[in-house]
This record gives sequence, C-alpha cells and structure tokens, in this order.
Amino acid sequence: MSSQQASYVVIGAGPVGLLAALGLAKRGHSVTVYEGRESLDQRREESYPIGVNLRGIRALRDVGGSILASRVEDHGEIIDSFDIYSGKRRVAQAVAGTIRSQTRFAVTKAIYDECVAFEASKGPESKGGVRVVFGKKLDRFEVVEDGTTAGRLHFSDQVVDLPVGVRVVAADGGGSIVRRCFVEATKGKENEIKETLVPWNVSFRVMFCDKSPLSYLDPKIHYIMSGVYVAVSGSSSDPWTFALSCRPGAPHHDLFHLHTDSPTPAQIEELRAHLRKACPLTAERLDDHISEEELRAFFGRRIFTGNLVHISRCDYNGWVVMLGDAAHALFPPTGEGINSGLDDVHALMSAIDATSSGASVSPFSHYATNRQPSVDALHSIARDIWLSQSGSTADKIVSMGSNILFNVFSHDKSKPTEAELRYGPPAKDALLEYPEVWKRHLENVGGYRRALRWIAAPFGHVTADQ
Ligand SMILES: Cc1cc2nc3c(=O)[nH]c(=O)nc-3n(C[C@H](O)[C@H](O)[C@H](O)COP(=O)(O)OP(=O)(O)OC[C@H]3O[C@@H](n4cnc5c(N)ncnc54)[C@H](O)[C@@H]3O)c2cc1C
Repeated sequence: MSSQQASYVVIGAGPVGLLAALGLAKRGHSVTVYEGRESLDQRREESYPIGVNLRGIRALRDVGGSILASRVEDHGEIIDSFDIYSGKRRVAQAVAGTIRSQTRFAVTKAIYDECVAFEASKGPESKGGVRVVFGKKLDRFEVVEDGTTAGRLHFSDQVVDLPVGVRVVAADGGGSIVRRCFVEATKGKENEIKETLVPWNVSFRVMFCDKSPLSYLDPKIHYIMSGVYVAVSGSSSDPWTFALSCRPGAPHHDLFHLHTDSPTPAQIEELRAHLRKACPLTAERLDDHISEEELRAFFGRRIFTGNLVHISRCDYNGWVVMLGDAAHALFPPTGEGINSGLDDVHALMSAIDATSSGASVSPFSHYATNRQPSVDALHSIARDIWLSQSGSTADKIVSMGSNILFNVFSHDKSKPTEAELRYGPPAKDALLEYPEVWKRHLENVGGYRRALRWIAAPFGHVTADQ
C-alpha cells in the first residue's frame, strides 16, 4: 500500500491526536480516531489554563490552516508576563508577549471543529477524511505481525484487526496504554522501547471567579503565588481561573484531596482560609469574587496529576508512532506540554511530506529518528524545572540556585533572557528547536551548576545532568 493510499488509526482525540488526524486527512488519507471519552467534555472544570506559544500557533497554522490558528489566537488573550509573588510582593517576572492564554478544552474544540468542517466541505471525489469514534477506550494493543494482520486493538466491546499497511498514531496522553503495551512487547528485544516515569509530586484543582471580575488584576498577566495560579484563560471577558496546587505533606493536603459533593461548613471555611493565606493578593476581596457555591463545588472537582514521561524511541517498526504526552509528558510549569505535542505533529507532517515520493524509509521511522533529540531535550528541560520544585534539597540548590545566580551576576541586560527568547518579542525571529534551548540553558548556567554541586553535596544526593 503506498503512502497516499494508506489509512491511519489515531488513538486519543486530545489536541495532538486531532491535529494529527486533520493533517493526515488533508494529505488525502482516511483516518479513524478512537477516543475513550463519550464526547469532548465541555465542562470548564475538566479543562485548565494553558499558554499556546508561537510554536503551537505555527503547528496549528501549518498543519490545520490559518482559520484554525486565528480561532485560537483571536480568543486567547496575549500574556505579557508571568509574575511570581511572595505574599503581596512581586519577586520575579518572566516577560512574555507572544503566548496566548487558552484552555486545553478550547484548543481541542477548535481543532475538532476544523475536522468537522473538513469533512463537511469534502466533495464526492475527495480523498481522505476524519472519523472520530467516541466512547472507545482502548484496553490493550496487541502486536500480531503475521504478514496479514499488523496488530489488534482491544476495546471493551470490540476487537479491531489492523491489516498490514495501516499506520497507528498513539496520542492517548501521559498515561498512554499504547506506550505501555509497546514497552512490554519490546522488552529485551533489539527494538526495545524503554520508558522512564517520574511522578509530578504535585496535584492541581481548579476554581472559578464568577461573582465579580478581578478588576484590580491585569488579564494580560498570569499570577503565580505560593500554591495558586490566577489567570484569565481565553479572552478578558472569560472568568478568572484559580488553579490550586498541593504537594504531599502540605498542611492542606487532606482537605485538598477530599472528594465530596457535600463538604461541611468547617471544611469550606478551611478552604477559604487556605485561599486567603496562599493568595494574599486577592484575600481581602475573596468573598466578593468566589461564591460559597463555587467553594463547595471545588470538593467535587477532578484532581489533575501525572508523571514526567521519557521514552527511548517514539516509533515501533515504522507503523506505530507516539506523539504528545504519550511520548513525552512534561511538568505543567514547563509551559511546553501542548506546544511540544502540536510541534510533534508539525514534525510528523514534514516527515510524511519528505518521504511521500517513494523514499525507502517509513515516514514514522524518519520522524522518530529526527525527533528523538527533541524528545530527549524536552525531558531534560522539564526535569530541571521538576528538580527545582519537587526535587531533594540538594537538587533544588543546584537547579534553582544556578538560575538565580546567572540572572543576578551573569546575564547581560542588553541581551534577551532565556524566557524572552522563547516567549517574548525576540521569539518572533527565532523559533528555537528544543535541543538548542537546552544547550543554551546549560551554557548559561553550567558553571554555576558545577560549583553548586559541591555546595549542595552535604544536603543529600544531587541528580546527575542528562
Ligand atoms: C494541570 C495541568 C496544567 C497544564 N498546563 C499546561 C500549560 O500551561 N502549558 C502547556 O503547554 N501544557 C500544559 N499542560 C499539558 C497539556 O495539557 C498536555 O501536554 C496536552 O494536553 C497534551 O495533549 P495530548 O493530546 O498529547 O494528550 P491529552 O490532552 O492528554 O489527550 C489524550 C486523549 O486521549 C484520550 N485517551 C486516553 N487514554 C485512552 C485510551 N486508552 N483509549 C482511547 N482514548 C484515550 C483521552 O481521553 C484524551 O482525550 C498541563 C496539564 C495539566 C494536567
């Protein structure tokens, strides 16, 4: 089967799976997407604030078209900066200026709508199309490879045989079943796929400000306080979101992890007191902004948590590829989760285009070989941020300390900061590849890291650089 006639199966209708499906359909392929949920979940509490940066926008535009990119750009407020507060005092500021404030749901919905529009606009002779099948949670991926059948998808109510020639895109998120099956299937073999999982060690829950707008805060700024992230997701008329975080051992751990639709008045009061303490910037007017009902609803909300994921190779025998969180789930403060996944799709489409005219290598193998340095660098970037926030005392000294020392003593103020290079106006000129981002970071802070390793050693084990 030639590349033009091949059909594709995508597992997972998140932003990455849907953009991959759209890109493939536009290239004349017929694509079936299997999604475990019954529908795109529209409830705002099932989403969370994310920033779509220039890399994400480029992927949306190049793969999905300018209408899709504009939809995400037009509804997302530009983030001028991420301001870090200690109490009521701003202690640090990461300048941005090119990132759009969005929610995971809004981006997913925009791509889904584009898939629907593509289907609707197809003429009778058109090749390619996208079919999204909801309520199909994959339980197991069986490798067959008997010359006729490549693999078998086991759903709870159905088994789907994949004939040889069909290609599979796994975009089933950080807890990917496909990844787990291929790690198992290749164990000890020549084409072994190894995975590393590191728990985030922090969980998140969201709350919304419905009663009155936080007019004294700036919708173009994302406020990072101790344990609370306050931001407008979408346009300035959308409600402010409070994303609360909690680490094991924190005083409010039991309260935060309580799941009940009917919390006691004492528990609601405890939550209110926690918010006042964690978020002093909004404390005085908390009761004006967050209703009693919203505080109560918090206890029934979903808790988001996950793992840092790294894999040693993101394709299997040229017919299965893993993208997005399935291949490299990051740590939310990295700010690259959705963007790196959309960038994967951009890179995959380039690999497909590059191999379409009879190249001997499969587009998935071509992609996997070229993309692995980015997968490795993404993990290093995320792991460094994870170490500075969730690592041991010694690791925090090295990771956080080297950044602070570089910014205070070595950063040439006439040159853009690392953050500005990635998210600020200079980013418009240079969309750095992830290996370059990590290399520049190590060049900047490497000397301080080496010195701090000696200083941190008495405080415990220092994790080696990767
Ligand atoms: C609290 C939080 C904050 C975040 N903040 C940011 C941020 O600020 N910036 C940023 O860029 N990123 C952020 N992220 C990460 C970002 O949301 C993810 O990187 C992005 O959603 C990954 O997209 P994806 O399509 O690969 O996976 P997902 O969005 O996880 O989508 C996977 C899809 O696959 C489906 N699925 C899963 N298992 C199966 C199965 N067995 N069978 C069928 N379907 C299945 C799921 O239902 C889902 O629809 C954050 C994540 C969290 C949790």
